[in-house]
Amino acid sequence: MKKKVSIFMFIDAFGWEIQKKYNFLEDLLPHRYPAQMQFGYSCTAIPTILTGKKPTEHKHLSFYYYNPEESPFKAFKYLKFLPKSIFDRWRFRHQFSKIIKKVNGYTGYFEIYSMPFERLPYFDYIEKKDLFVPDGLAPTKNLADTLEEKHVPYHISNWRLTEEENINALKQEIIEEKIDFAFLYTANMDGLLHQVTKDGKEIQPKLDWYATKIRELVKEVEQHYEDYSLFVISDHGMTTLTHEVDVKKEIESLGFTFGRDYVANYDSTMVHFWFINEKCREHILNKAQQIPHSHLLSQADKVRFGIDFEDNMYGEEILLMDPGVQIVPSDMGTNSLPGMHGFSPDHEDSFASWLGTEPLANPPKWVGDFFTIMTEYMDKK
Ligand SMILES: [Zn+2]
Repeated sequence: MKKKVSIFMFIDAFGWEIQKKYNFLEDLLPHRYPAQMQFGYSCTAIPTILTGKKPTEHKHLSFYYYNPEESPFKAFKYLKFLPKSIFDRWRFRHQFSKIIKKVNGYTGYFEIYSMPFERLPYFDYIEKKDLFVPDGLAPTKNLADTLEEKHVPYHISNWRLTEEENINALKQEIIEEKIDFAFLYTANMDGLLHQVTKDGKEIQPKLDWYATKIRELVKEVEQHYEDYSLFVISDHGMTTLTHEVDVKKEIESLGFTFGRDYVANYDSTMVHFWFINEKCREHILNKAQQIPHSHLLSQADKVRFGIDFEDNMYGEEILLMDPGVQIVPSDMGTNSLPGMHGFSPDHEDSFASWLGTEPLANPPKWVGDFFTIMTEYMDKK
């Protein structure tokens, strides 16, 4: 029998409002705290949780950033002459993403989504490496680096596996009494919430499924460890669709040339702008200010959200949509989804959750604090 194990289970998009609305392990995990999400999407939330640092430090905010000199997609400029009908199909884009990933040796999550091929040469892609393994966020230290440094025997899920496979992999290491620390990663809740929203009738059954799996895991833990701490954490919540706005059409109606006058990356809930021809800056910003249900981020907000990049890596200006309003079409998709995240961290549906078997002396305020708390638990033997 081993002494103690600390388990941190990550459920993607299990936001504070969702936690409040449904039944989920109230007896096992009675100590609960909301935490402000990191401004952005999962592609910045996960690096924030795995390092405890802001995006200005770990450098991950959106998937794409303006970098024409070093773009790995330079050859794509010739593809604009090929028929759109094939290139716009999701299956084709997905298969093509797999090829790019292989050719470039990327070990991270890579998907080109709906980014127009001829625009790819203006961008570089941030998530080239697997974030969860040692050196995954180098030069910033991540969770795995910290565990290795402290010589703590650990298990971190492989995000390429299914939820069930990851739960079983952890259970096996518990049975073998191999580890003192675990980070269990599950992502299906996010996909479900995008499709059925936080009000979907499918949410309670999915939470019940997680609850059953957790209770089975705890049973094994109790047989193999004298003591344990268990926490369920998330990165953000999910906001139900209220409106769609075609921001791209509005900006392009001004007649400036993409790549020569300006560059824009249209995420589902925000646009990142870079200006090449200074003359178009004022026109584009004027237009952006007239777009309904949106606002340009102030410098104060950029500082507050840890995204005040000195080199404007993720845009000189960012237009953020109001909670519930999606940009359609965007570079992430041609259609809206019933639910989306990536709105203001101040909105109630954005808040992440922390649930635990025990109270915390210093509860988390922001998801980056999860890393600090996880680090403290590495030393609890
Ligand atoms: Zn998502």
